[in-house]
Amino acid sequence: MAEVKTAKFVGSFTRNDKCPTDGKPEYAFIGRSNVGKSSLINMLCAQKDLAKVSQTPGKTQLINFFDINETWYMVDLPGYGYARASRTLREAWEKMIWYYLKNRETLQYVFVLVDSMIPPQANDLEFINKLGEYRVPFVVAYTKTDRMKADDVKRNIDKFRAAMLETWSAMPLEFVTSAERGRGKNEILTFVENANLEYRTAN
Ligand code: GDP
Repeated sequence: MAEVKTAKFVGSFTRNDKCPTDGKPEYAFIGRSNVGKSSLINMLCAQKDLAKVSQTPGKTQLINFFDINETWYMVDLPGYGYARASRTLREAWEKMIWYYLKNRETLQYVFVLVDSMIPPQANDLEFINKLGEYRVPFVVAYTKTDRMKADDVKRNIDKFRAAMLETWSAMPLEFVTSAERGRGKNEILTFVENANLEYRTAN
């Protein structure tokens, strides 16, 4: 079973050139604000408060680094789609996030978190399409799947797939998760372990 043995907060950064430079492979987590990102990060790391759950949305504009097992970095990116964010804040977010995503050489995959409770959202699809445009490798993780009946979760996931397949020819790798139940933990951590092996072989 893949496991997080140590998870340490490294620091918060606004620019790539201030981020760690030791070359460890990294995996970034992002989604709409309130998607369940902090909860998922804490669940994966088996720590209650590693990532701050329900921080005032629209305020955190930092790239947070966590060192996992002294082997890889988990990167907590500020969420998008907070309705009340000012234009200035949104523009700052765009600039920081896309600079990071386009230029960060050690970035292996972006985990795009998608709320399984709601139908497909335009801003999720927009974000994903932009990742495609810039050729940033990503996977999708559906969150909060314990909150509704399995059939309803499946319906939302199917709708999301249909929406994505309007522009994509195939789905990326998908993870069905619940921070509440620990669902998806082993799958995600195993995926990361395998990607790390590939990274080490190639570098
Ligand atoms: P973030 O803004 O994306 O970091 O989202 P949070 O992790 O703060 O979660 C937003 C809200 O959804 C909080 O009230 C969480 O308790 C709740 N939540 C997140 N993940 C889950 C989950 O897997 N199951 C359930 N039932 N609630 C969740």
